[in-house]
Amino acid sequence: MPLEGGLKKPCKISPSPVGSKGYPICWDFVQKRGRTHTRVVLEEKLGRPIKPGFCALHHCDNRRCIEQEHLYEGTFRDNARDREARNRSRKGIHHGNAMFTEADIKFIRQSLVSDRQLAKRFGVGATTVRRVKKRETWAHIK
Ligand SMILES: [Zn+2]
Repeated sequence: MPLEGGLKKPCKISPSPVGSKGYPICWDFVQKRGRTHTRVVLEEKLGRPIKPGFCALHHCDNRRCIEQEHLYEGTFRDNARDREARNRSRKGIHHGNAMFTEADIKFIRQSLVSDRQLAKRFGVGATTVRRVKKRETWAHIK
């Protein structure tokens, strides 16, 4: 059976009990506290601690999966964007305005990369990016 998203290995389900957020929790013998199993596995893969503000995300969307190949370091925003791309759902987002932060708008306007690349990066259409650049949208941000 082909795996989703080009993943080569099947999911490995953590035997640890699941915490309140649906992620498996295991005991960290080094730090002497319960930690999300996925973070522990990802740190092993990276060979360093996960950066502050970042979390262990799944390519496979399976919260209990602890297969190293399926885990990557990312922000909550990446996570949300990823999930959105996978679900192709745009619930609660009105004509592309809500998905940017002020910092994103500044980034887009200062950026030298093409509209298409920016669009891909933010998971929006190239038209949305062009409208931001032309200040047709988000005009209140300088
Ligand atoms: Zn997986």
